[in-house]
Amino acid sequence: MVLLDSLIYLDYQASTPLDPRIEMGPLFSDFGNPSSGQHAFGQARTQGLESARRSVAEMLGASKSDVIFTSGATEANNLAILGFRPARGLRSRLLASRVEHPSVLRAIELAESRGWEVGWLEVDSDGCVLLDSLDLELERGASLVSVMAGNNELGSLNDIAGISQLVRESGALLHVDATQFIGVELGPLYEVDMVSISSHKVYGPPGIGALIASPQARNQLSPLVVGGGQERGLRSGTENVPAAIGFGQACQLVANQLDHEVVRNRDLRDRLAGNLTLQLPDLRINGPRLEERLSSNLHVTVLGADAEAVMANAPGVAMATGSACSSAAPAPSHVLRAIGMPDDEAESSLRLSVGRFTTEAHIDLASERIVQAVGKVRKLTSTKSSTIGVNP
Ligand code: PMP
Repeated sequence: MVLLDSLIYLDYQASTPLDPRIEMGPLFSDFGNPSSGQHAFGQARTQGLESARRSVAEMLGASKSDVIFTSGATEANNLAILGFRPARGLRSRLLASRVEHPSVLRAIELAESRGWEVGWLEVDSDGCVLLDSLDLELERGASLVSVMAGNNELGSLNDIAGISQLVRESGALLHVDATQFIGVELGPLYEVDMVSISSHKVYGPPGIGALIASPQARNQLSPLVVGGGQERGLRSGTENVPAAIGFGQACQLVANQLDHEVVRNRDLRDRLAGNLTLQLPDLRINGPRLEERLSSNLHVTVLGADAEAVMANAPGVAMATGSACSSAAPAPSHVLRAIGMPDDEAESSLRLSVGRFTTEAHIDLASERIVQAVGKVRKLTSTKSSTIGVNP
């Protein structure tokens, strides 16, 4: 974690550092194919893989056979949506909101091009799905509902208990993208049929994640990747055993320390919010109240200070404008647009996220640098606009 020693990392929602207690090096030296059950090399791989599967399942209170390893949450979301077949008698109609992650939204577009109908769920000004809208759309018929547990930009938390109850009564199945929720918030995911998670958001290695699917959901899934029939036929390809073991260890660490970690993150995040609002009285905090959002997340708008320029002028502080996952596309965030934020405000917005290795000293120094950067950018902007006014 060389960079962490010299830079302040406030982008935990984009990716978490690998926990140094997880030693990946030796895991990559082991070899053998878990499908080679006839010899000790293959058997040892299977053992490692299955014990990792147990750790992932235990973190979620699921059963080991529910865990389908994938390359990450993007693939898990794709499998849950594009691999899903409606139960007999139910319509090929799925419901979701427009604040979902692109891996859900693009999968939905593809499903639509393959004949699925889509019902869009309304969200409130914080980006939370409105239960009335869900109720109405369920009455029109649906076989699958996909909602995120915690939003990757605004940190808003959906009422999964309420959503789950309505979906269950309708006979449809519920998929929850819990990528930002798991490892950050306490609380069960209630009665959910499929859950997507990702290792690099819970201090594990990148390149692995899982779809946790109940037996009924698995019966309604077809694989997107076919071949040797690994992962109970739902995800072919020789398993990424070292990554799975690292992911399993990360899940154990989460299970052991989450109570403490949530409180710690919340304190750090609140300290950051306090520092910034004290120094920048016109700064606006977007999304839900601090105590009602992901413990790691802060999302702010600093009017008159372009977020990219603030980042460029805050040396050594790593943060995000909008969602890192869509940063290849320079357009303002689809989440902020969906809650009705004007583009100029979205362009002056920053997402700051804390995590396991953030310290109070990081928070104080980062606040100082951000405040200075905002001052600098505002000054430059006002000089530029007055210069433009004077010039012919
Ligand atoms: N869903 C959400 C809510 C996310 O934040 C992300 C990652 N930013 C993903 C899905 C995709 O996860 P992965 O990087 O594991 O593909």
